[in-house]
Parts: sequence; C-alpha cells; structure tokens
Amino acid sequence: MINKKSVEDIEVKGKRVLVRCDFNVPLDKETKEITSDKRIRESLKTINYLISHGAKVILCSHIGKTGKNLSLAPVAARLTELLEKEVPLLVDLDADETRTTIENMKEGDVVLLENTRMTEAEEKNDDAFAKKLASFAEIFVNDAFGSAHRAHASTVGVTKYLPSVCGFLIQKEIEALDHGINNPKRPLVAIIGGSKVSSKINVLLSLLDKVDTLLIGGGMTYTFIKAQGGKIGTSLCEDDKLEVAAEILKKALDKGVRLLLPVDAVIASEISDEVPTEVCAVDKIPDDKMGLDIGPKTVEIYKEEIAIAGTVVWNGPVGVFECDAFATGTKEIAKAMADSHAVTIIGGGDSAAAVEKFGLEDKMSHVSTGGGASLEFMEGKKLPGIEALQDK
Ligand code: AMP
Repeated sequence: MINKKSVEDIEVKGKRVLVRCDFNVPLDKETKEITSDKRIRESLKTINYLISHGAKVILCSHIGKTGKNLSLAPVAARLTELLEKEVPLLVDLDADETRTTIENMKEGDVVLLENTRMTEAEEKNDDAFAKKLASFAEIFVNDAFGSAHRAHASTVGVTKYLPSVCGFLIQKEIEALDHGINNPKRPLVAIIGGSKVSSKINVLLSLLDKVDTLLIGGGMTYTFIKAQGGKIGTSLCEDDKLEVAAEILKKALDKGVRLLLPVDAVIASEISDEVPTEVCAVDKIPDDKMGLDIGPKTVEIYKEEIAIAGTVVWNGPVGVFECDAFATGTKEIAKAMADSHAVTIIGGGDSAAAVEKFGLEDKMSHVSTGGGASLEFMEGKKLPGIEALQDK
C-alpha cells in the first residue's frame, strides 16, 4: 500500500496546482503525431479530479531526451480534445506573458508548460529551475509514474518548495505492482526477457526471493545457456556476465525457485524479416546463427506455467518482437496471459508496447506506464519521486 498523501487528502479549490505528468508519449519520427496516447489517457483521472474540485491546473512533463528539444505541442492538442477544453501550451517559462496567463487562470482552467527537458537543469535537479517551476503554484502533485525513479527538478526538486502529494495514477501503479509482487495470489510466475542480463541482474536476484517460478526469455537467455556449457552461435551474449548467470541459476536452486530457461529457439543469420528462419535446440545453435525468439516447445511449456499461475508479472519481450519473424513467442506469451485467470501485470516498456501492438491491453489486470520505474520497483528500490511526497 502507498502511504503517501494524495490529491484527495488536501484542499485544492482555488489553488494553483502544478501537476507532473508523464506525457513522454511515442511520436511518429516524421509527422510528430502521437502513436500511443495511453500515458495521456492515464493522467486524465487526476486532471479531471482537479478540474472538478476547482483547482487551477498547471501541467508539466518531459518528452524525449535532453538535447532533442521536442515540443509538447501535440500533447496540448490531444489534451484539448480529451478534456474538451482549451489547454494552452506555455512555451517560455521566463516570459512575463506566461506568468500573467497563470495569474489570470480561473478555477478549472488547465495549461501545459513546455517540455521540462528543454533545459539540462531538469535532469541535473537544478535548484533554481525547481524553484522556478514551484513559483507558478501553491501545491505540487506528482502523477508521473514513468519518471518516479528519477530525481529530477520537476519530480523531486519542486517538493522542497511546495506541499507535495501523489495523483491517482501513481497510486494505481504502486498498488498494482505492490500487490502483484509483495502480496500475490500464488503461484507467482515472473517472465523476464529483454536484451541483456546486465540490465536485469538486480530484478532477477530480487525476484528470486519472491516468485515461485521464473521464466527466462529474450537475448539474456544465451548468457545463461553458455554458462551451462551450451552452444549459442552468434546469439547475444555477455561474456563478462557468465559467472553472474551461473550464480543466479545456483541461487534459484538453493531457494527452491523453479527457474526455467527456453529449450528451443527460432534462429537466423541476422535480425531481419528477409532471412530464412529455423528452429533448433537452444544449446545447439550453429556457429553462424543466432537465437532471436523462443521456439514452439518453449512456448508450450511457458503457456502451461502461465495457465496454472495465480499471478503473472512480465517484463521484457522474449524475442526480437519488432520483426514479425521473431514476434511469435512474445505474442503467444501475451495471448496466454490474456486468456489466463491469473492477476496479470505488464511491467511497462517494451512488454507494454508489445501487448498494445497485439491489441491485448484490455485483457490484462494492469499494464504499467513506466518501464524503468516498474523495473526498479520490482528490484525492491525506493522510487525518489514517490519518496519525496508527504506521508499520510
Ligand atoms: P530491454 O530493453 O533489455 O528490455 O530489451 C528489449 C529488447 O530486447 C527488444 O528491443 C528486443 O528486440 C530485444 N531482444 C529480445 N530478444 C532478443 C534476442 N534473442 N536477441 C537480441 N535481442 C533481443
């Protein structure tokens, strides 16, 4: 359970409320149109609550990386449609006009500040920038779960200057993840995929204390298989992580956790939809081929584990799902989760993108809006953007 104050615990009527949202939505590279507005839609509950309770709502968010200088203009346009009211984008935080617009806001009005990452000060958690952001408002609400693992000016810095509480999305995310991982309906099955062991070591170690079964997929498979003496061809492998992989396998044995590795793989000479593919045993991959998806036998085994689970938590695709030729494993896992009676939790990032791509989002119990944040939560870390908020 989250022990932080929320928007419901404070009086917002007539107050200027700065709301940190996660509007870091994917944009089409050429047209700059929003390709998924999930993160915007997920922020609406908090925004609508504030509007209906008479707050003056000042939204802010980052979009893209620092230095890319992407504009939140497409988000302002989408918000205007979704809220059915004009949401002006205030592009220059230093302009007198911006301050005047905010001073003249009426109860229920909404404005959006331009991308907080237009300046390096955001990621540096620069105090002067945090103070400037805070100076626009009387209350701070953090609802950006996707940025909660980052101590930036707009997530942590501002909390030094304003009474700070969480929004409904952060509440929902923490409750779903906490319930799924720390108080699950058993058996608890975790599926961990993605490219590298190195980025998932901490989550794997932490999950070994919590789960009943751990299903491994994706590029990290091959470091484990090589650690066991298998032949992996040109598959992705981190040779400096072979010992860690062996240690994880041993820890699983010691703790009585069933850690399953793929038994077969879809292989090809390169990552491309144009090259022929084959299926072979995961530990007998020819020298000139690489494993790019879990094979059909593995799919069947993993589906059986999902079918008997009480809770399934998934982070990381089990194959190179961006190519149709290697998307089957990831699609079958998503379908099996959608069909199961288990509590199903998708840990954001690529797995959430995959579930959305296959149109199965509505069939899951919870699809997180934060890849990095949900991973760090699963690692058992405290999220600074949430820690900085007022306790109940
Ligand atoms: P991560 O960011 O670590 O969660 O990794 C996600 C990426 O892993 C996706 O872009 C996948 O294409 C990639 N991936 C999944 N399986 C494999 C594989 N067998 N070989 C190489 N990359 C993979």
